[in-house]
Amino acid sequence: MKIRASIFYFHRVAGDNLEAAVPAEVFAEHLRLWRALGVQSVSQEQLARHLDGSGPPLPPRVINISFDDCYADLLDRALPLLEEFGFKASFFAVAGHLGRKSFWSQGAARELDLMSAGQLRQLAAQGHEIGSHGLNHRSLTWLPLDELWAELSDSRQVLEQVLGRSVTTLAYPFGDVSPWVAQAAEAAGYRAARGLRRGNLHSRQSLFDLSVINSMRLRDRVSLRKMAH
Ligand SMILES: [Zn+2]
Repeated sequence: MKIRASIFYFHRVAGDNLEAAVPAEVFAEHLRLWRALGVQSVSQEQLARHLDGSGPPLPPRVINISFDDCYADLLDRALPLLEEFGFKASFFAVAGHLGRKSFWSQGAARELDLMSAGQLRQLAAQGHEIGSHGLNHRSLTWLPLDELWAELSDSRQVLEQVLGRSVTTLAYPFGDVSPWVAQAAEAAGYRAARGLRRGNLHSRQSLFDLSVINSMRLRDRVSLRKMAH
């Protein structure tokens, strides 16, 4: 089973340029274009279930809109736009730091607020997907086994407790993945995990290294139009 589907990956929607922020008007332009093209958004889990054969076939033109880190201001800046244009997104939370700050960033971005447990529950209740982005936002490729397992498995359990539902998807912090990490992610109970390889063709073999379109390349309208063709 193969499918061509763009996973658009974002961090923030804001005008301040911190953490690869995309301005709200550019984000809205993406959404407007996708709606005009008749594109439908699916969760990473829906994509995975299509690829592993356990879910229903997907509509012909699908995308996944994906946010790393779960910055709290997405609730004010991205969520209303997603609602206005009728899209759902996938939000990947750093499970050990809910309601805290993005300490792993540089400079002023270290002070950005992350969503709390209650805010994640609110997002999930509105039909958005919540996945894991690890426990402590560590690169997974060089961790000893016990620490790797904690990042993968404990983060999933924390989020499942917060949400009261199963958590089946993962986005690797920094996009760092190796064959070993991918195997561990599968053993920890995930259905699929997203890396940062570029591309939009997915198969069962790529379930644990799903490729993406980096939204940073879509900051201006010219590149956005180019992407549409
Ligand atoms: Zn991140």
